Amino acid sequence: MVSYPKIILKPGKETPVLRFHPWVFSGAIDKTEGQPAEGDVVECFNSKGAYLATGHCMPGSLAVKLFAFTQQKIDKAFWFGKIKAIWAIRKSLGFTDNPATTAFRLVHNEGDIMPGLIVDVYGNMAVLQAHTTGMHDIRQLLADAVVEASEGKIISVYDKSSEAIRKMTGRIVDDGFLVGDMGGCEILENNNRFSINAVTGQKTGFFLDQRENRELLARFSEGRNVLNMFGYTGGFSVYAAKAGANMVHTVDSSAPAIAIAQENMKINGFDSPNYSCFTADARKYIETMEPNQYDLIVLDPPAYAKNVASRNQALKGYRTLNALALAKIKSGGILFTFSCSQVVDRQMFTSAVTAAAIDAGRKVRVIQHLSQPADHPVNIFHQEGEYLKGLVLFVE
Ligand code: SAH
Repeated sequence: MVSYPKIILKPGKETPVLRFHPWVFSGAIDKTEGQPAEGDVVECFNSKGAYLATGHCMPGSLAVKLFAFTQQKIDKAFWFGKIKAIWAIRKSLGFTDNPATTAFRLVHNEGDIMPGLIVDVYGNMAVLQAHTTGMHDIRQLLADAVVEASEGKIISVYDKSSEAIRKMTGRIVDDGFLVGDMGGCEILENNNRFSINAVTGQKTGFFLDQRENRELLARFSEGRNVLNMFGYTGGFSVYAAKAGANMVHTVDSSAPAIAIAQENMKINGFDSPNYSCFTADARKYIETMEPNQYDLIVLDPPAYAKNVASRNQALKGYRTLNALALAKIKSGGILFTFSCSQVVDRQMFTSAVTAAAIDAGRKVRVIQHLSQPADHPVNIFHQEGEYLKGLVLFVE
């Protein structure tokens, strides 16, 4: 048996680990045997010396991210087995062979007991994003595992970890191809066409987590004037147009994203000025737009809170943004409003939107609660993994 550095927990601190919570905080640690560096594999034991779990060593107060709860060698066979098992789960849920939807999240962090790793599949290519040194160090092996699990379907894997690694560890690393050289493609999502560029796009290239919420938006879109604010490459916009919206305006502060949004409208057959896309700041756009111009608005801002310290500021941001939109939306209108900040929970977000409704002086009914789809699963022992929260509001 290979021996890994040992993390010994304080008496009584093993309870969360026994319940498969994937994090160990430094405050729970009694002592460390060996000298693990950031990214090394470590094994955790209770105070009586019984094995608990295996994970990657992290710097700071979140000391270990766990990926195994039975003692074993962490080698190529282990990682290949894990990726194969996760692929099988996605297959059983209908994601891997769906001709109408050719993109899905294969690996979702803690939700798949793979803390620090995201892999998104776009047709025949995959994009890997490591958030920890431990996962980044083995990115080539993980990419090879994805190719093998896909039984030849995936022919290219692009590593897009640099931004996440810089933010999480401060280290500067390069992005690049781990397998093949396919950086862009066209995917189908519920038979809507989208152009993906993993190399130049944000995150892994597309926001797959809004797939089902886009479907719901389509149900409300017929005959409406739609504003897709923070529209990125036009995901919600294409669905709204297909569903018979009168007009769809897409707004985002990123000019490259807006260029792709316009292109996406076009490849789906929406090429008139009714389907215009604008590069603009959200707040400025909403402040200057005519009242009653839109009766279906989507607000899907980037994560306002990146950590607990910025949470209050973020809640103020959600309140202001939603109040501006609620004040301007036409009577009888519908607002889809989201937060993707992990540290803002559903209750906090709902409170911020409630405060916005008071500020705007509108009568507001909550008609749906929204979340993330089955390829972005939440580990039930790690509720923080439910990062995407949305409300659908009917505004009188
Ligand atoms: N709704 C999109 C995803 C939105 S991600 C989809 O379904 O694909 C958040 C987007 O907000 C990014 O595209 C980012 O460019 C944009 N953004 C960030 N700050 C902004 C601002 N101040 N005004 C407008 N857009 C902004």
